[in-house]
Amino acid sequence: MQIKRLRITGFKSFVEPADLVIEPGLTGVVGPNGCGKSNLLEALRWTMGEASAKSLRGAGMDDVIFAGTATRPARDFAEVSILAEIAGPDGADEREIVRRIERGAGSAYRIDGREVRAKDVGLLFADAATGAHSPALVSQGRIGAVIAAKPADRRAMLEDAAGIAGLHVRRKDAEARLRATEANLARLDAVIADQDARAAALRRQARAAERYRLLSNQIRVAEARTIFARWRDAAAAAESATADAAR
Ligand code: ATP
Repeated sequence: MQIKRLRITGFKSFVEPADLVIEPGLTGVVGPNGCGKSNLLEALRWTMGEASAKSLRGAGMDDVIFAGTATRPARDFAEVSILAEIAGPDGADEREIVRRIERGAGSAYRIDGREVRAKDVGLLFADAATGAHSPALVSQGRIGAVIAAKPADRRAMLEDAAGIAGLHVRRKDAEARLRATEANLARLDAVIADQDARAAALRRQARAAERYRLLSNQIRVAEARTIFARWRDAAAAAESATADAAR
């Protein structure tokens, strides 16, 4: 990934839109103490997804918005855009990554004008072996920390250099999705067990209903037979009574 331009508006001391063009080769920023050199690196890290206001020398994330001076009022939003050239299988591709924050309303990210999640921006930079926490970005006074890094941090540096940071982010993502799928499967098992129990109860009810239907038929046939036998007896009695009367 080659960062070609940083456009900063309302971020920290950069109240007016300012472009930092990074040409091929080495780019240096020179200026007196407190002129905003560190703010440039912070703008870069912030747009890459930095979530810690403290690491941007602020108490809250709104502190990155221009807070005003004796002669200028404070701003309500800050926006930083990174124009980067990313090498892909079909050649290099230019992407514009934008982070914007509004006072009291939080941050939003865009890649090439399309709104995206912070995670998507993190992944884009991780795939290019960089990002807000990349050891490739060394802030003032942090060189000592890099030298004295713990083995775990050193491993992160090596992984970053090897360009596999994106794979780690993806693995974490895949693991989270796997855990969610496992939880869904467990819920599905419970639902299936519940449905099995209900099906067994319904089968029992169906068997009882079938028995009832059979018995009802048998009762109806028995009643018909009884009525017929009574009728036959009555008819025989009437016949013999008629015969007796005729005698
Ligand atoms: P040093 O040489 O000390 O590292 P620097 O050139 O890196 O300084 P920065 O520390 O990046 O400068 O910039 C600090 C300046 O930014 C200060 O003047 C500070 O007042 C200004 N600043 C920081 N945050 C804001 C803000 N939210 N609104 C307005 N100005 C701000």
